Amino acid sequence: MKNFSIVIHGGAGTILKEDMSPELESAYFKALQASLDAGFAVLEKGGTAVNAIKASIVILEDNVLFNAGRGAVFTKKGVQEMDAAIMDGSDLSAGAVASVRNVRNPIVLANEVMRNSNHVFLSGKGANDFAIKQGIKLEPDEYFYSAFRYDQWKAIRDSDNYSLDHTNHHLEELLRDKKFGTVGAVACDADGNLAAATSTGGMTNKKYGRIGDSPVIGCGTYANNKTCAISCTGHGEMFIRTVAAYDVSCLMEYKNFTLQQAMDEVVNKKLLNIGGEGGMIGVDANANHAMVLNSAGMYRGIKNSKGFSEVSIYK
Ligand code: ASP
Repeated sequence: MKNFSIVIHGGAGTILKEDMSPELESAYFKALQASLDAGFAVLEKGGTAVNAIKASIVILEDNVLFNAGRGAVFTKKGVQEMDAAIMDGSDLSAGAVASVRNVRNPIVLANEVMRNSNHVFLSGKGANDFAIKQGIKLEPDEYFYSAFRYDQWKAIRDSDNYSLDHTNHHLEELLRDKKFGTVGAVACDADGNLAAATSTGGMTNKKYGRIGDSPVIGCGTYANNKTCAISCTGHGEMFIRTVAAYDVSCLMEYKNFTLQQAMDEVVNKKLLNIGGEGGMIGVDANANHAMVLNSAGMYRGIKNSKGFSEVSIYK
């Protein structure tokens, strides 16, 4: 049996200790630990990397603190539209959904797309129809309502501050104040199989059916047993333009970079060069992990078979 490990994130952004109450900080730590423990328990029993990351993500999606599932942000129209993706590095199978509504756990639906459809990427009403056909759990709008997210949205809903124009001062403020909040997990199981998953509500006040990097295979999510498993969080448009997750894999495959070197190159050079704020988590096939961010903070955690376990928030 080889070493195994799981790494999770709950979003990156300008997360500063001085803005955090002790109660909120401890709520985040507790949630991250619960998610890590759930994923690790699967690996410990000899479960697959895919099942481990699914278990970790469901816990974060069910927690209103994170911008995924229950805590998803509001769109311009005042509803939640969620994106998610999962990829199995053992055979490069993948499943993703975009702009789905009322799905309790978008990651479960993405997994269903991966396993039980002939497709990789479903969106909008079609994805919802598939969810119903497969008996995926739905919830009413009220389930996704939280006063915190509603206030966040109310403050900007009458403005055009959805735009990802980086020169837009108000948007900058929004991004700075409100973090990103997406959730992700990557794992290497005892058989050396890698998997990655990401789930998000996207950006507050988004419109025109905007989709970020999270569900786009190769951008926000990627796994390949030959190289690594990666889940990203941050300003999605930049992660799409840099094909960020796949670029880490390419640097490892074609240039023999280590996981850490490849992630540093993408996060601290390529993304920074185009103003792409955020971070990513990764594991390689030897269960080595890395967590790299160019923002002030990223909710994150790691637990491995060597007995190392840690959750952290600030840079
Ligand atoms: N990357 C996500 C998006 O652009 C946001 C996030 O990471 O919180 O939709």
